Amino acid sequence: MQSNSQHDHKTTPFWWEAAPVKPLPPKSLPTKIDVAIVGAGYAGLSAALQLVRAGRSVICLDKMNPGEGASSRNGGITSGNIRLDHATLVRRFGENRALAIEAEGKKAREFLYSFIESEGLACDFKRVGRFSGAVGKQDYEGLARTAEKLEKKLGIEAFAVPQAEQRNYLGTDFYRGGSVRMDIGGLHPAKFHAEILRVALEAGVQVHSGAAVRKVDRLNDGFNVLTDAGQVLARQVLVCTNGYTDASDPWLRRRMVPVRSRIIATEELSPNLMATLMPRLMMCSETRNLGFYYRPSPDGKRILLGGRDGSTSGDPIEPTLHLKRNLDELFPELQNVSVTHSWFGHVAMHRDMIPRIFERDGIVYATGFCGSGVVWAPWIGAQAAKKLLDAQMQARSAFDFRPPAAVPFYSGKPWFMPGVMAWYRHLDRKLMRRAGR
Ligand SMILES: Cc1cc2nc3c(=O)[nH]c(=O)nc-3n(C[C@H](O)[C@H](O)[C@H](O)COP(=O)(O)OP(=O)(O)OC[C@H]3O[C@@H](n4cnc5c(N)ncnc54)[C@H](O)[C@@H]3O)c2cc1C
Repeated sequence: MQSNSQHDHKTTPFWWEAAPVKPLPPKSLPTKIDVAIVGAGYAGLSAALQLVRAGRSVICLDKMNPGEGASSRNGGITSGNIRLDHATLVRRFGENRALAIEAEGKKAREFLYSFIESEGLACDFKRVGRFSGAVGKQDYEGLARTAEKLEKKLGIEAFAVPQAEQRNYLGTDFYRGGSVRMDIGGLHPAKFHAEILRVALEAGVQVHSGAAVRKVDRLNDGFNVLTDAGQVLARQVLVCTNGYTDASDPWLRRRMVPVRSRIIATEELSPNLMATLMPRLMMCSETRNLGFYYRPSPDGKRILLGGRDGSTSGDPIEPTLHLKRNLDELFPELQNVSVTHSWFGHVAMHRDMIPRIFERDGIVYATGFCGSGVVWAPWIGAQAAKKLLDAQMQARSAFDFRPPAAVPFYSGKPWFMPGVMAWYRHLDRKLMRRAGR
């Protein structure tokens, strides 16, 4: 296939070829339950598993097929990013909480890796490391400083890669050097979700697909949860709807802004070409604000590249071509290579820009992963489960505090996104100019 066939791709995730999302056999809802969880992505299922193993009866309700949200669509990179730098965290949340948030990032990643191992989750996970590319000298120096800090403060294996050594890690001359973190790796996101679902079902979690929650009413001793599949009385409710939050919870909707992220997958490449472009089969990211994340497929035969998709219509052509142009800029060898899949999903952005556990009117929320939920969602889900099990608990997660603030003049239609995208494009142009490019 040649590059003029870029329009022929599938619009479903590449990941669904090996692990399709599907409905669960229909069952009637129980009349009463200890905990009702809204959303059966990584966060909801992780919480459900902890709760059921602690002896609670648990129902997990999803309006789509379980996993059909971001949890089977993502890049599978175990980045666990905190989008805010240390100084901003201190300014917003104080020194102690800032330090606790940063330290919990390491715990969350370790939790994920031991969860995969101890449960035997077959999800192609490999801790291959992540290369971050710098577009200019200043960024390179910033990446090098961060790598040094990670080594010294948290004992994470991280190092700078000068431009002269870059091709040992990535077959491109686009960057002016970069850095590597060896604590990050890649997994097959849809297999990972399918495996958590398997373990949760085996443990006794009742999972329902096609069960949109329409309303949660507070009662004296619990909640009445009204869904498309019937209603259930629950002692506790946990909401894990992230980028797929809908009008059934207008309060949360004003706080979570769904932003499209899109990924393209190439056709299979020759082993020689893969060895030139991705000699270490590492995960990749870069320093631009609207930068790209990319990786080899788990079998090492294709390249998958993702980035923000500012479009609002369903037409995938322009955003797909945009990603392909940028892939070709990184790797000119791919100009005549076809895209076989292009798909998008929603990440949840909010004003605090860090994952969050919070409570309102007795309902607990574990959500707001800002595009980095492969590490955060299983961890935050598990921490939220602990909170439900022990409301008085002393050692709370550093992410358990006030709800994020509402976004002004927003109630579900992100009218401001074109402006936000234009602003980031402007910042990236400035960054490139400063880098003399
Ligand atoms: C294209 C893309 C690439 C990404 N790449 C990465 C990456 O490489 N690394 C990384 O760390 N993160 C990445 N992410 C982010 C990551 O996928 C998410 O943060 C994570 O999957 C969130 O999990 P979740 O369980 O909170 O939400 P989701 O998996 O989105 O699940 C939410 C669920 O809630 C359900 N729901 C919503 N409303 C209702 C309702 N009223 N009733 C019933 N059910 C409801 C939805 O149907 C959905 O299934 C990416 C995301 C996307 C979209």
